[in-house]
Amino acid sequence: MGKHKFDVEYDVVVVGGGGSGKSAALTAAKEGGLKVALLEKMEKTGGTSIYAEGTCAFESSEQKERKVPPKAGELNQKHYPTREEGFRRYIDYSHHRANPEVVRMFVDNSAETIDILKSLGVVYTDVTIYAYDQPLELNTFHRPDGLGERVQELLLRACVNAGVDIFTSTPAKQLLTSDGAVVGVLALDSKGNAMKIGAKAVILATGGFGNNPDLVKKYSWQYRVAYHTYQCVPTQNTGDGLMMALEVGADTDSIGALMIAPCARGKTLSSHSSGAGAQPGLWVNKTGRRFASEEVAMSFADAGNTVAKQPEGVVYSIFDADTVKHLMEEGSDIGLGDFIRYKQKLTHLQTELDQDVAEGIAWRGDTIEELAKNIGLDPEVLAATVAEYNDACEKGYDPLFYKPARFLRPVRKAPFYAVNMAPSVLVSCGGIRVNGNLQVTDRDYKPIPGLYAVGMEASGLYGDTYNLDCPGTANGFAHTSGRVAARHAIKTIKGE
Ligand SMILES: Cc1cc2nc3c(=O)[nH]c(=O)nc-3n(C[C@H](O)[C@H](O)[C@H](O)COP(=O)(O)OP(=O)(O)OC[C@H]3O[C@@H](n4cnc5c(N)ncnc54)[C@H](O)[C@@H]3O)c2cc1C
Repeated sequence: MGKHKFDVEYDVVVVGGGGSGKSAALTAAKEGGLKVALLEKMEKTGGTSIYAEGTCAFESSEQKERKVPPKAGELNQKHYPTREEGFRRYIDYSHHRANPEVVRMFVDNSAETIDILKSLGVVYTDVTIYAYDQPLELNTFHRPDGLGERVQELLLRACVNAGVDIFTSTPAKQLLTSDGAVVGVLALDSKGNAMKIGAKAVILATGGFGNNPDLVKKYSWQYRVAYHTYQCVPTQNTGDGLMMALEVGADTDSIGALMIAPCARGKTLSSHSSGAGAQPGLWVNKTGRRFASEEVAMSFADAGNTVAKQPEGVVYSIFDADTVKHLMEEGSDIGLGDFIRYKQKLTHLQTELDQDVAEGIAWRGDTIEELAKNIGLDPEVLAATVAEYNDACEKGYDPLFYKPARFLRPVRKAPFYAVNMAPSVLVSCGGIRVNGNLQVTDRDYKPIPGLYAVGMEASGLYGDTYNLDCPGTANGFAHTSGRVAARHAIKTIKGE
């Protein structure tokens, strides 16, 4: 293998132990009978895939089983999209920035992903949409029992059983090349010692750069808030795969879309105060004024974009005692997947708000002016915003942004609360250009021999925004692309 002297050699080295990496490793070991190493920089594998709730697929066995023909005179309420419908939706939603080859690879192979995960023990409880009442969403969201955590646990077990060597706390640092081909990886082992690992194929499954504000600043159209986002999950996807690939001549494609969800600073997505803040009530930015129809909250991707456009990514969600009571006793007006379910009673809301106010991450006031002073907003401006908003609520008509009347909930009864909603970057959506085999391509669109990129590290599905019309896309693509890349590597290594 060229001029390198390796400490150890494998057929395939997978870098990153999330959904895409483990799917690639399992396929290479189990289907190809290859010697496979999986490197994971954190203490445990799983990455952001642990937090994923649903998995997108088209024409899966689960969708087919649930396809009940409508009775005479009834509409079929739940339409399960075909591959072609999925293909068109990705292309259209991205304004043709998606790569048709990659999209086709995904929609054609996604159903098998569901069957493979089922064969590992995953049980799907539903195939649905992500948000309630979103007319554009397709029913692609395969919801596994135990969610992403259970899926990743089963996948890890399968990798171990298939003989994959798993190295945790072992970050890959550099790709090793010889005559223009990638022939291995330089990694640091758990004691910090450099380790040169030879490989006939390297699969980058490093999950993108969502945790790296410098790269967000450099590549995303959301660059203004790069240093004002809030990381609500403890992941370390810092764009290592992208950086390593660029060093060996890879190119980027449609880079910079981020999956962002509004989350209360200092809280988790399932916290009840964050969930209250994420409702489509009254949102103001640092000027103390509204800036959008808060109904955007129904799609977390659009809501994330909207929050991230505000000065310093700061949004205060303002509500009153009646809304606290409503959310605690009647439940949420919109859901945020399984983090906050539609109509879920936010029973901890008052306790959390009291704690958050004491910690200085939420604010309370007996009047709107007092609330404004506590937050640091102009009291007169906020009072005028609230008065105008309450007037809109009374009339059932939002003259500013046409928010639907069902979300016009007034802010009248003291005490008043404000929650600071931040743009929380969940993941970046692609970066490295790949072809339909997930081979990384150079500036001339030629594959770099021996190198693949999969999951959130690979471009191909997105334009400027994560596609929630096909919910579960990131996770479905992660597992599917990992497997497809590994199959191509198997064939190439075996000379088939
Ligand atoms: C809170 C949350 C909820 C989500 N919910 C959904 C959902 O419901 N549906 C959906 O489709 N998507 C969801 N996502 C997105 C989800 O991350 C993707 O779906 C997908 O699972 C990502 O898979 P991946 O393998 O590309 O990346 P990851 O699962 O993030 O795996 C990447 C791995 O690479 C490791 N790594 C990084 N750099 C190195 C290095 N140098 N060396 C070794 N290892 C390295 C990381 O530590 C990580 O373990 C969610 C994300 C978050 C944060």
